[in-house]
Amino acid sequence: MGTKGREIVDLDLNSLFESLNKAYADEWLAYYQYWVGAKIAKGPLRGPVASELEEHAEDELKHAGMLVERMIQLGGTPILKPEDWYKMTNCGYEAPEDPNVKTLLKQNIKGEQCAINVYKNLLDTVKDKDQITYNMVLEILEDEVEHEEDLQAILEDMQL
Ligand code: FE
Ligand code: FE
Ligand code: MG
Repeated sequence: MGTKGREIVDLDLNSLFESLNKAYADEWLAYYQYWVGAKIAKGPLRGPVASELEEHAEDELKHAGMLVERMIQLGGTPILKPEDWYKMTNCGYEAPEDPNVKTLLKQNIKGEQCAINVYKNLLDTVKDKDQITYNMVLEILEDEVEHEEDLQAILEDMQL
């Protein structure tokens, strides 16, 4: 942890760590929801849908990595036990019990919409207080907005 780097953050660090850890829990759950969804997907366009889900899974894992690096940089501790993902999550986990591609897409769209809300709120919280976290959250938010649009476009094409 860099002492000056930490000093320039004009926020209560414990509440920042809590927000970052909650988002971190969301990312792991989103990662797994996409990853396992891609494996079990069934129905029309299963191949292209699975590739899109796999790509998103990778992005969510990358987001988890970004969040954890920022927490460590500021002297925080990331969630250490997967069981705490469920306790900390904002967006929860939707088990893909119905493997139909349309159902999977709808579940994942719901998750993306939750993520967009979470990151928009976090962005407002850190604005003008922690520019580095702001940049990181903005980058993640851009991905989540893209994810929502990708999935909605596929679903729309299927319904034509
Ligand atoms: Fe994400
Ligand atoms: Fe996403
Ligand atoms: Mg995509």
